[in-house]
Amino acid sequence: MPYLKKEDKQKNGKEYRMKNIKRIKENHRKDYIKNRERYILYNKEYAKKRMLENPEHVRKLARARLARYHKTPKGIYKLLKYRSQKNKRSILSQDEFIKWYNKQDKICFYCHIPESLVGYIKNKNGRNRLSIERLDWNKGYEKNNMCLACFTCNCVKNTVFDSVTMKKLAIKFIKPLWHSNIKH
Ligand SMILES: [Zn+2]
Repeated sequence: MPYLKKEDKQKNGKEYRMKNIKRIKENHRKDYIKNRERYILYNKEYAKKRMLENPEHVRKLARARLARYHKTPKGIYKLLKYRSQKNKRSILSQDEFIKWYNKQDKICFYCHIPESLVGYIKNKNGRNRLSIERLDWNKGYEKNNMCLACFTCNCVKNTVFDSVTMKKLAIKFIKPLWHSNIKH
């Protein structure tokens, strides 16, 4: 067998893994079931060791993981649920929410800004996704009372404007501002 460079070796390893992924996973699963206690202990010890070695790095990874989770439909639902329980508002079930969320075009209901641009707009809280808004503030998070809204529209609407007025206002005054507000 000819000499393999390090990258090639890695590539081959990856290729081998991809080809035999089912078998490898199945073997790993069997092994895990057999030695469950040992795996758990090992993981615990490993986490402890990493935390002692570089606590800042571990915390940073955990924060990043949480931030990623809070961008998924499940994570967003968890935040909503927490908020509505705190304020004693009604909320739809997780399955209903995920179905609703996946069906949405990811644009602001009022000014139509796409979610991909939200992260580039200057705002103080640095949010980079559309938030879930209640059209009627007197009602909870129910299927027909929710929309996606950007931070600007959310702030402007507040409890002052109803959704129909807000839509007109956003198209007229907020939408033309996107381009000048985008960070360069
Ligand atoms: Zn908007």
